[in-house]
Amino acid sequence: MIIYPKLDEKLNGINFLKQYVEKYKGIEIQLLSFDCIDIAYDVIKKYKAEIPTLEEVTIHLPLVEEFNFEALAFAKLDEEKERVSVLINASKELNLKINLLYHTRWNYNTWLSSGAIERMQELLSLIQNTNVNILIENIYAVVEREECAVFKVAKHINNNHLKVCLDICHLHVEANMFKEPFDEFIDSYLNKDDCKKFIQQIHFAGTLNGDGLIDKKTHGRMHDSWRSFEEDYSILEQFGIEDKKIVTEVSEDDYSTRVDQIKEIEMLMKKI
Ligand SMILES: [Zn+2]
Repeated sequence: MIIYPKLDEKLNGINFLKQYVEKYKGIEIQLLSFDCIDIAYDVIKKYKAEIPTLEEVTIHLPLVEEFNFEALAFAKLDEEKERVSVLINASKELNLKINLLYHTRWNYNTWLSSGAIERMQELLSLIQNTNVNILIENIYAVVEREECAVFKVAKHINNNHLKVCLDICHLHVEANMFKEPFDEFIDSYLNKDDCKKFIQQIHFAGTLNGDGLIDKKTHGRMHDSWRSFEEDYSILEQFGIEDKKIVTEVSEDDYSTRVDQIKEIEMLMKKI
């Protein structure tokens, strides 16, 4: 198992998480500043200086709709090209594998009809033969019931530099929105072959009270019991993806100590 802790752009909590980063050699960085093209290089460089054995970094853009792929690729495609070129340089200079993660709320048909596919292909053309990848993450969307759009987009584009980040919490939210029993929902929503082929990493967190949407305090939290942890971990086993990189995306309201995240990592380490 490979566990990548999640940290922020200010290196908050790094002292508490350093032992895990040194062990698994990767992190995800949550960018909070909106001018994050400019700061990304410096942030990555600081982490590499702090942990020289670091090999892989995923960059997560700010958690607002304006940073979803569909918003950026249409209004600011040139800026996205600049963002990608910054990451290519960082990857070369710091000898790191770097992933750029985008949320998308659009369904597959909208990706097809809008030109988003072509825009993604434009970005992908910049990173061929580099150590940079783009990840697209499933977020809940009412229009998305029949499909998990990120897999269909990745399959359609079929480029080794485009992979999926599967968020377990968002699966629960989606099932909850459609009032479907969770097991039945994921049986129809996910496909084992696609999971194995396209997923690069997993956002792993608890969804308290089976909710995760109505109240933010129930979304992306530490699993509150070993039983709920086991239930979510069994999803990874069911779809054959327990060997993918697991990012503990919990308790994002406080990056200072990462107490909950450490407990979540320790639960995962019991599965090894
Ligand atoms: Zn996520």
